[in-house]
Amino acid sequence: MFGICGPDSDAARLTYFGLFALQHRGQESAGISVSDGETVTVYKDMGLVAQVFDEPTLGGLSGSLAIGHTRYSTTGSPSWINSQPVYRQIGHNGIALAHNGNLTNTHELALAAERNDATTDSELMTAMIADRMRETGDSLPDALAEVLPSFEGAFSLTMMDRTHLIGIRDPFGFRPLALGSMGAEWVLASETAALDLVGAQFVREIEPGEMVVIDSSGVTSHHPFPPTEERFCLFEFVYFSRPDSILLGETVHRARRRMGVALADQAPVDADVVVPVPESGIPAAQGYSEASGIRYTDGLVKNRYIGRTFIEPAQALRDRGIRLKLNAMPGELAGKRVILVDDSIVRGSTTRQLVQMVRDAGAVEVHLRISSPPYRWPCFYGMDTGERSTLLAAGKTEDEIALYLAVDSIGYLELDRLIDATGVGASTFCTACLSGDYPTDVPAADAKYALERN
Ligand code: SF4
Repeated sequence: MFGICGPDSDAARLTYFGLFALQHRGQESAGISVSDGETVTVYKDMGLVAQVFDEPTLGGLSGSLAIGHTRYSTTGSPSWINSQPVYRQIGHNGIALAHNGNLTNTHELALAAERNDATTDSELMTAMIADRMRETGDSLPDALAEVLPSFEGAFSLTMMDRTHLIGIRDPFGFRPLALGSMGAEWVLASETAALDLVGAQFVREIEPGEMVVIDSSGVTSHHPFPPTEERFCLFEFVYFSRPDSILLGETVHRARRRMGVALADQAPVDADVVVPVPESGIPAAQGYSEASGIRYTDGLVKNRYIGRTFIEPAQALRDRGIRLKLNAMPGELAGKRVILVDDSIVRGSTTRQLVQMVRDAGAVEVHLRISSPPYRWPCFYGMDTGERSTLLAAGKTEDEIALYLAVDSIGYLELDRLIDATGVGASTFCTACLSGDYPTDVPAADAKYALERN
């Protein structure tokens, strides 16, 4: 998500560039809504940012206030109707919403609001806010202050109407959202790397439970939720965020490198080379190599134009994705005992194919090292990992996992060591997918798909 507001800004064009830096967070659809002070216009479509927008399209999106979104589906199917920003007309005004995360009380909210026509939690939130504005005549910030406390789960939001840009994080602060500035312009972005790309200075993270309202008079901060202990997604550090982003004051790349150092200490093995699974396994492999003294080499090459495989929603696409995405280099692997380093294993289908690829390239041993604990529990907070039965490590011992993946040995980084490596206090994190310790009530297993129809 990205948002910008400033007196003279070419808001849609800057949002377009900001979304480029956030493409890794969703690749199914992209959209921008913009206000010229009179009208809110939305343009969105299926595909990557570069596929959705071109010069004539951006030229038609004039105004100095905009939000943008790249989506991968965590509730609702990956179709145009569910792409974001979500828009609602209220009299002469219009509101638009972009959402990162996943509500955990969608079903109950939809029943209470008599809104069973919504096809995603994001659409339901927008409809409820619009209903409040229609019924009471409230401004967008006032309506939000009333409606937001009924939402439960994970929601970092950017919202706008004709004159306001708004950034919100749920009380647990599951997903990131940063505030930046660029001269007289204010910027919101899911990750600080997007601030860097447009030339904005990082000001601060939006606090868990905070709503910032930005308009022509500046930024005001509101706290519409009761105080709650922070539970930032640990997996943002492990996998999801860009290595050049800063989370909770720490650079993600440095944290991932420390995870590799800790992994070498915890799970050493005699071998010839350390090979990362590109790209999110690279910093941990560098750390492992540095700590173990075993040579680092790029034995797998990534085709940079293929997206993250596990984001794609259908299994058929994922299976095809791995063969398009990576290639092994026999010159680096043949005759070698290989330590293969990755950040995580979710479903395991990709890893199994990778191990076979490394063996086919001539490796004599493959020792898998993972810079996080086994991923055993589904995420209900915005990571689409599917149901528990689809997770490789659910109900399996490490020996059984090693057998399935056909590796000579396997080593996962322990949770305490992983948290230490982030450099941030343990009490700060959600670790539910790794520990089963959910910070909120979670819906019944299939409720995640309650609104999915298409
Ligand atoms: S369950 Fe895992 S992926 Fe989901 S928010 Fe918690 S730590 Fe992140």
